[in-house]
Amino acid sequence: MKLELRGHDERYTVEQSMLNLFPGELPVYGTVTRGEPCWAVVELSEADGRATVTVELSREGVTARRTWSETLSGTDYQREGVRRRGIGRCFYEAAVAVTGARPPWGMLSGVRPDKLVTAALLSGRSEADAVRMLQDVYAVTPERAALALETGRIAARTALQLEKRDIAVYVGIPFCPTRCAYCSFVSQSVEKSFGLVEPYIEALKRELREGGALARRLGLRVRAFYMGGGTPTTLSPEQLSGVLDAFETAFDTSHCVERTVEAGRPDTITPGKMSVLRAHGVDRVSVNPQSMDDRVLRAIGRRHAAADVARAMELSGGFRHVNMDIIAGLPADTPDGFADTLRRCLAFAPDNLTVHTLALKKGSRVLTEGLSVPDADAVREMLDFAAPTLRKADYAPYYLYRQKYMSGSFENIGWCRPGAECLYNIVIMSELCTIFSFGAGGSTKLVDRDTNRIQRIFHPKYPEEYISRTADFAAVAAFYENRGIST
Ligand code: SF4
Repeated sequence: MKLELRGHDERYTVEQSMLNLFPGELPVYGTVTRGEPCWAVVELSEADGRATVTVELSREGVTARRTWSETLSGTDYQREGVRRRGIGRCFYEAAVAVTGARPPWGMLSGVRPDKLVTAALLSGRSEADAVRMLQDVYAVTPERAALALETGRIAARTALQLEKRDIAVYVGIPFCPTRCAYCSFVSQSVEKSFGLVEPYIEALKRELREGGALARRLGLRVRAFYMGGGTPTTLSPEQLSGVLDAFETAFDTSHCVERTVEAGRPDTITPGKMSVLRAHGVDRVSVNPQSMDDRVLRAIGRRHAAADVARAMELSGGFRHVNMDIIAGLPADTPDGFADTLRRCLAFAPDNLTVHTLALKKGSRVLTEGLSVPDADAVREMLDFAAPTLRKADYAPYYLYRQKYMSGSFENIGWCRPGAECLYNIVIMSELCTIFSFGAGGSTKLVDRDTNRIQRIFHPKYPEEYISRTADFAAVAAFYENRGIST
């Protein structure tokens, strides 16, 4: 889409709107010529303390023009927010007029649509007010606004239970047995990078020792532990035990209320590994079939079959909480096939079930090989089946998030039975406390609860780089020192 910005340079805001409304379309900046097939002129002007935005947008011969105006007040930061919201809203209205499409999350293009609800509730606004804001200001559909209220309410309640010194710890294991067709994560196939696993574990243990020592000196309280990936259970029982040992020795775990390990691929789960997890106090595991249709599993490049899921679920007995992940919109899947997957997963009675929507990620085989995936209407049908089915089975949504390029612009939802919420999932999605991240490909997130500002420290992307670097916690120490917490 050819874009002409007048009176501003808010490229990010416009590009986020484009991503939401015209996924796959790339921005090209310059002067618009009216005869082009797809273009938008986005103009911002200010006079007498008011900002006015005009968007004229055209696609395949259909053109719409929308105007928005609002008085600017408050701090520079708040005024900036008003301008950006105006640009986003105006672009959204013009795009809806041209395409006729109404995205479920309206003009919200971010990862955490319920964060606005959590912030509104924590600032003392009523639930009705928060829902009205989503619908009126951000054009969110009533159904999605109600969903955001359910998860935003849980996040607000959780935020009130956390203290300034509370943190969560994440450990990343970037190895998988094979690469899934929809994956763009840096995870390496263990078969190809077997030689990296041991040095990676050693680097991880070193980093855990140093990070834990700093956390102890700062008096930080670990509330939740999460080992994800990749597929942590690609590690041997001894390697898993070594990493968990390193965490337990390095950190003060006396306030840690949950320990989660993603067991992920059913074909990596063995009795020996599950005993190691149980012996280390792991009380949550996630078994991720993604689909219970062998045809779909083959299409996405998994090496396991649906029958392996049953065996993995049997081995998961004895853990307090078990999650299963499934995905709506996978290659070769259909609404009937997805419904069957959900029913078969519910038959295992996990107390958590996460319903993802396929995200079309750059670099994934779905895109590079042009695999055929269900269209947005089929994905809507799958999700429309999932929600009432899960509610009927006594599950409720407790966290949600979105990713770029999601089929139909929907969302991922974590559902659970009453009282089975995973604290880590809530705090990471709603950014409620600092997360110390260990391993390649992740980032430590330092959350300032007073200002809601977040500082990120990115880790090396690939295991090779991670293994050869020296961990540095100076930025973490400085963050806490600036907030009156020092060693
Ligand atoms: S299990 Fe997850 S991280 Fe591993 S290849 Fe599949 S999608 Fe990627």
